[in-house]
Amino acid sequence: MNCYDCLTRQETTAAVATCTRCGAGLCIDHAHVAPEIVSEQAGTGKATHSPDARRFTCGICHEAEI
Ligand SMILES: [Zn+2]
Ligand SMILES: [Zn+2]
Repeated sequence: MNCYDCLTRQETTAAVATCTRCGAGLCIDHAHVAPEIVSEQAGTGKATHSPDARRFTCGICHEAEI
């Protein structure tokens, strides 16, 4: 798979990740890494669950989620 954002610029770059929202292939320059959003409340104490999961989004989906 190739990076979708690079293809729109007439470039071909191997994708290293996939947008979890739209499924587009992403190269390292176009992949936005963000922690999985965890809405669970931890109360007043420390959170006991494991660290947030990793997720990749493309530039368009990244902007849409802000
Ligand atoms: Zn790219
Ligand atoms: Zn996307």
